[in-house]
Amino acid sequence: MTQDRILVVEDEPTVAEVVDRYLRRDGYDVRLAHDGLRALAEYDRFLPDLVVLDLMLPGLDGLEVCRHIRAHATTPIIMLTARGDEVDKLVGLQIGADDYIAKPFSPRELAARVKAVLRRTSMVQQDGDTLRFNGLRISGRTRTVEDERGAISLTAREFDLLFFLARHAGQVFSRDQLLDNVWDYEFPGDDGTVTVHMRRLRSKVEPDPSRPRHLKTVWGVGYKFEP
Ligand code: CA
Repeated sequence: MTQDRILVVEDEPTVAEVVDRYLRRDGYDVRLAHDGLRALAEYDRFLPDLVVLDLMLPGLDGLEVCRHIRAHATTPIIMLTARGDEVDKLVGLQIGADDYIAKPFSPRELAARVKAVLRRTSMVQQDGDTLRFNGLRISGRTRTVEDERGAISLTAREFDLLFFLARHAGQVFSRDQLLDNVWDYEFPGDDGTVTVHMRRLRSKVEPDPSRPRHLKTVWGVGYKFEP
């Protein structure tokens, strides 16, 4: 089995060293970059399976690095932030990170998140426009949804919401972002609408809507599809 490659972008040597040691111990092939520009150069050479990216970096900061990577790749990115409340702001910026960890963090927690994100991204098998998650099958072409119990009947909007979240599995979206992406311009924009649609969608897609398997609430932020 080939080792997963991880690029760690962190300018604080002691943090970089600890993260490096923990990830190597877990069997990953790790490269370090200490600033944003070198991170992008290293990214192109190394082609990592995952990037651990510090937000505050000299030169090009973590946001810029994330945008550059996202412009041409879906490589999972875990952002390291200075404070927990920065996470809301980052999610609001739609930079497309797959997970966030606030500093100070335990290296063991980071290693666990790395493992979870890699598992999640490798589990999403996309064949054409059909997304499969365990028993759930979502076809973008025929706009149909099935699970172990059979076909699930959704309204157009419910389908759009489900398909959008599932296509970006693991990514957290605020209600406003969902309004922008799923409801488009035609809608005046009331984020209560998202809550209502999510509740209906859960009642149709989730066998136990009070304990959803896929359609998760991220408290204080919004929603995500957990594959
Ligand atoms: Ca830093």
